[in-house]
Formats: sequence, structure tokens, C-alpha cells
Amino acid sequence: MSNKVQSIRGMSDQLPAETSLWQSVERVLQEVLNGYGYQEIRMPIVEKTELFKRTIGEVTDIVEKEMYTFDDRNGDSLTLRPEGTAGCVRAVVENNLLRGQAQRLWYRGPMFRHERPQRGRYRQFHQLGVEVFGLEGPDVDAELIALSARLWRRLGVKRVTLQINSLGSVASREKYRSRLVTYLRAHQQQLDEDSLRRLESNPLRILDSKNPALADLIAQAPVLEESLDEADRTHFEQLQRLLEQMGISYEINPRLVRGLDYYGRTVFEWVTDLLGAQGTICAGGRYDGLVEQIGGKATPAVGFALGLERLIELIREQGEETGETKLDIYLVLAGEAAAHAGLALAEQLRSALPGLRMMTNLGGGSFKAQFRRADRSGARYALIVGEDELEQGVITVKDLLGEDAQKSLSIDAVVEWLARYNSGFLER
Ligand code: ATP
Ligand code: MG
Repeated sequence: MSNKVQSIRGMSDQLPAETSLWQSVERVLQEVLNGYGYQEIRMPIVEKTELFKRTIGEVTDIVEKEMYTFDDRNGDSLTLRPEGTAGCVRAVVENNLLRGQAQRLWYRGPMFRHERPQRGRYRQFHQLGVEVFGLEGPDVDAELIALSARLWRRLGVKRVTLQINSLGSVASREKYRSRLVTYLRAHQQQLDEDSLRRLESNPLRILDSKNPALADLIAQAPVLEESLDEADRTHFEQLQRLLEQMGISYEINPRLVRGLDYYGRTVFEWVTDLLGAQGTICAGGRYDGLVEQIGGKATPAVGFALGLERLIELIREQGEETGETKLDIYLVLAGEAAAHAGLALAEQLRSALPGLRMMTNLGGGSFKAQFRRADRSGARYALIVGEDELEQGVITVKDLLGEDAQKSLSIDAVVEWLARYNSGFLER
């Protein structure tokens, strides 16, 4: 019988074999965001439970059944963040970042939801979140969508389509709500338990139900579009024109409502058919009322969140894994004297060549064993220091792919040789 302690269901380790892909994806995300002038913000992973109840909405899947909520030692109710928007809004309000200026922000990190774990759905998962505060026009919505489209292009992600919809203003949604309730009441016997409960409290959420038994009913429900007011329509139409001008294709999905309470007007999702039921990799929209709702000055806002596990899986599905970190050098230190001198030499090389990716053989081992490790490391070259090299003050350079002839160079010459390759393999 094993008494090993196991990880928590739905919360997995990212093992070394996977992290290099994560790192290169994260690098691209950061580069693109910086390229649009967005700045990173970092919030705590734990917030007061009340924050999520007030922002996400009491009658949502997240607040009703997915939050990791606990009392801390002071008796305060705290929750592991299930998403980032609530904490981000709290942070910008609390730190007065919204005084007379727009903010373009992004964050990245783990989120926690007690869902049924399955492909693309975990209890700890990671999101990239992007939020813009203080701009109300459709141009921001369009830029955010263009930014996300650029992420796919830069990452080589192809099989994704964009769906957009408008949820209208609060007033438009009120009008729609009563039409929807009338329709759903007429088919009440088909509703499941969750939906019956939401019929009074939050009927729009029923449209977001994942229960396949409700699919037909939902497909036939009245659509929100007819309830949009003039200003809502203009906003939505302008967004569509801007997308067309940028060459971004989209589908209007009148059933797209999003699972959180705070959205209004523009909502969008990027969906793929390669990941089964969990096909949404990125989702967002406008949430103009939220800042005021948690005590800030009324500020328009729009944002999206990207599910990193789903994105990474999609990249793998497409077989487009690129940008794996490769080593340039494996430093072989043969014999006790070399092992002794080796670390100082390695430091010398690293100081001379800041971009150098080099693994040093540690823990000794025979010449043969060290070469086996060099091959396994994926390095392009081995630098060898043994008794002979120490005596002669040289380093032997061996091409692990067998393309270049072996040569012995002085340390200075090795530095020079490595530097010459700078634009070649060091910048790979
Ligand atoms: P879904 O409809 O799949 O439950 P959601 O509407 O709850 O998604 P959001 O809260 O909008 O999702 O989160 C944005 C993105 O984060 C999703 O599109 C998805 O890519 C990712 N995501 C959400 N929940 C999970 C989860 N439990 N595991 C992995 N990724 C998730
Ligand atoms: Mg969900």
C-alpha cells in the first residue's frame, strides 16, 4: 500500500518537459502586449469572498458552486481567485489608477474553480487577462480583438474563429429579460433544476447552460438583438466595421451571453474545433458598470481572459511546437582537477557571454558518462576540459551533431568563437 501524498484532483504540476513551451508562449504574449503599450499588473491570489460575490454575481456557476472559499484565522471569508477581473478592478480603484487617465493592463497567473476536471477543464488553471479602463468607444473593443488575433498569428495558432455579440445596455437587457422569461415559462417543463432556479433570479444565464438537454430550447429562444437600443446598435455596428477594416473575420453569435453577470454591450469568444467540448480559448467583453459597482467612479471597461492550458494544448494539437529552449553548450569536466576548475571557468564564460545557454557537468562521472549526458541535454556543442586541456590551457570544442571538426582553443579564443556565433546559434 502506498502512502505517498498526492496532488489535488484537477491541479497538476507543470513538468520540466512542458515548461519550455509555456515559457516561449508566455514570452510571445508579453512581447505582443508590450507592443501595444499594455502594462503588467500583479494582484494577490486571495481576495475577500465578498468581492467575487459582488462582481461575478451571486447567481452564477462560479459563485454558486465553483469557488474555493475558506475562513482565515481571523474569521474573514476569503476565496482563491476564480478569475482576474474582479481583483484587477479592486486594485485599480484602491490604488487610484483611474484618475483622469485610461489604463491598459494585463496579468497572468493561476485561477481556481471547483469544476469537474476533464480535458481543458481543471481546478487550478492559468489565464492571461487583459483589461482596459476609461475608454468607452468600440475602438478599444476592436483593438483588444486585434491584439488577441495577433497572439494567434504570432503563436502559429490557426484553427480559431471569432464570435461576437452585443448584450446591450442594462436597459436593453431588462427589456430582453422579460421577453426571455415569457418564452422560458411557456416551456417550463423542459427546464432543469438550475435553470428553474435561475428563471427568476438570472434568466440570461440559462442561455449559457452546458446541459445538452436544453440545447434545442435555447436555440429557439428569442434573441437579444431585437431589444438593443440605438446607441447599442451603433456601438456594435462600428465594432463590426473596424474588424472588417482590419481584415479580422467574425461570426455574430446571437446566443453568446458569457457566464458572468458583469458584461454588457460587446462580448466575444475565440473558439476552436480541435479541443472537444472545451473549445473556447479566449473570452471577453465590455463591463462598463463594474468599477462603480465596487465603489469606484463610473468608468467604462473592457477586457478578455485567455485560458493558457487550452491555448498550449491547441498549439500541441496543431503540432506547431516551436521555440523550445535549446542549450548551446554542455561543459564536460573530465577528471578531478577539471571538475575543480570547472565552475570558475563556467562563470568566466557566462560573464563574457551573457546570452550563453550552457549546462555544466556536475557530480563528476566518467568521460563516457558525461558525453551521454551532453547528448541527452540537447546541447549543440560540448566544451571539454580534461587533464590535457588544463595542462595546455585550452578547451576542446566538439560538435555534438558531428558537423564541425573538433578543435582545441584557448579560453580567449573560445569566447571569441562563441561571440562570433552570437547571431547564429546563440540567438536561436
Ligand atoms: P467555460 O464556458 O469553458 O466554462 P467560462 O465562460 O467559465 O468558460 P471564463 O470565465 O470566461 O470561462 O474564462 C476565460 C477562459 O479561461 C475560458 O475561455 C477558458 O479558456 C479558460 N478557462 C475557464 N475555466 C477553465 C478551467 N476550469 N480550466 C481551464 N481553463 C479554463
Ligand atoms: Mg466555466
